[in-house]
Amino acid sequence: MSAPLLSLDGVEAVYQHSIRALHGVSLTVRPGQVHALLGANGAGKSTTLKAVSNLLPAERGQVTAGRIVFDGIDVGRTSPADLVRLGLVQVLEGRHCFPSLSIEENLVTGGLGRDASRAELKADLQRVYEVFPRLKDKRHLRAGLTSGGEQQMTAIGRALMSRPRLLVLDEPSMGLAPLVVQEIFRTLKRLSQHEGLSILVAEQNSAVALQYADYATLLDTGASVLEGPAEQLRRRSDIQESYFGEGLSKKTAHAA
Ligand code: ATP
Repeated sequence: MSAPLLSLDGVEAVYQHSIRALHGVSLTVRPGQVHALLGANGAGKSTTLKAVSNLLPAERGQVTAGRIVFDGIDVGRTSPADLVRLGLVQVLEGRHCFPSLSIEENLVTGGLGRDASRAELKADLQRVYEVFPRLKDKRHLRAGLTSGGEQQMTAIGRALMSRPRLLVLDEPSMGLAPLVVQEIFRTLKRLSQHEGLSILVAEQNSAVALQYADYATLLDTGASVLEGPAEQLRRRSDIQESYFGEGLSKKTAHAA
């Protein structure tokens, strides 16, 4: 089996020195894998992703125990900007775009941190437009005027402009219509299968996440409680009922 690209071992985290959000999260993302991080509201998915990208200090939070290793390097003290340079790029929850900039200007901001030449930026833009053709049609439109799905694609496209090896996404499905969610997950899956991009995606929508993921880790009240191939977890109705409510089995049956 290939060496892990990202591994978390017993990660614990607090906010404001006292609010315990994580108390034992372990997971392993392998190269080229789509790894879903599942759990109910408040289970600790966003906190885990922020720990990975070293974004907790910005919210008065910190990792208090455990290890986070990316590509063989302990990245516990690596700044978010350096993580991007190493190839670990996060798309935050809520499809952050600059609303007054055009889609293309938003995308270009993603390539600025890595000293790219104009020719490289142009080639990378073309690549993002191949990945998300509808962004090309709307490239001169202000991002704030586009649909929620297009804004999410812009946020993902901007991350792709940094040439990630691991793309970390927080709830990409949030607030989007089911067909758009399918389109986005299909694209992510294609990027992992055809370009070897590794993806760690936190989702409350476990039906769609398990449909496209290769592997999944389940969080419950701040700890990882279960992991396995997505296909196996999809079939475990006991898990679905305990952690997600009965809805998942119906939704998954429908999606399959
Ligand atoms: P959701 O899907 O609702 O975002 P989640 O699984 O991503 O849920 P987190 O947002 O990581 O969960 O929250 C985990 C715990 O940490 C919750 O108890 C939450 O209230 C707490 N928490 C999250 N952010 C902060 C913060 N900035 N300050 C204090 N507590 C926080």
